[in-house]
Amino acid sequence: MDEDCIFCKIAKGDIPSAKVYEDENTLAFLDIGPVNKGHTLVIPKRHSETLLHMDERDACHVMKTVQLVADAVKKATKAEGFNVLMSNFKAAGQVVPHAHIHIIPRFPNDGFKHWEQSNYEEGEMEEVASKITDELS
Ligand code: 5GP
Ligand code: ZN
Repeated sequence: MDEDCIFCKIAKGDIPSAKVYEDENTLAFLDIGPVNKGHTLVIPKRHSETLLHMDERDACHVMKTVQLVADAVKKATKAEGFNVLMSNFKAAGQVVPHAHIHIIPRFPNDGFKHWEQSNYEEGEMEEVASKITDELS
C-alpha cells in the first residue's frame, strides 16, 4: 500500500468506487471519466507503478480479471466490441501511478479515435527488431 496512491485507497475501500468485481488479488471499478459508459479499470490490489513493476503473478491475475470483466462489460453495455488499453509511464499518458488496465466498451461511430500510424524507411524495421531482440537475449 502506497499511502499517497489514490488506487491503493480505492482498493482498501478508503475512497468509494463503483466496484464491479473483486477477488483476492485484483479489483475492477468504473472509470470516473468514461470514454463510453461502462469504461472499467482493472488493478492489482498490491501497489505497482507500471506493468514493468508488477510481478508475474499479479500480471497474470490482472489479465485473468480483464478477460472475465471485459466479457461482462460487453454484455452489460450491449457493446459491439471493446478496447483493452494500458498507459505506462508519463510519456505514454499514465496519470495515476498505480498500474491499471482500461476496458473500454465500443460502439460503431462512437468517435473514439485510434492512434495515427507511420512507416519505416528501408531496412529500419529489421534494425529496430534486432535492437529489441538484443534486449531480450
Ligand atoms: P491513465 O491516464 O493513468 O491511464 O488513467 C487514469 C484513469 O483513472 C483516468 O481515465 C481517470 O478518469 C481515472 N480516475 C482518476 N481518478 C479516479 C478516481 O478517483 N476514481 C475513479 N473511479 N477513476 C479515477
Ligand atoms: Zn497504489
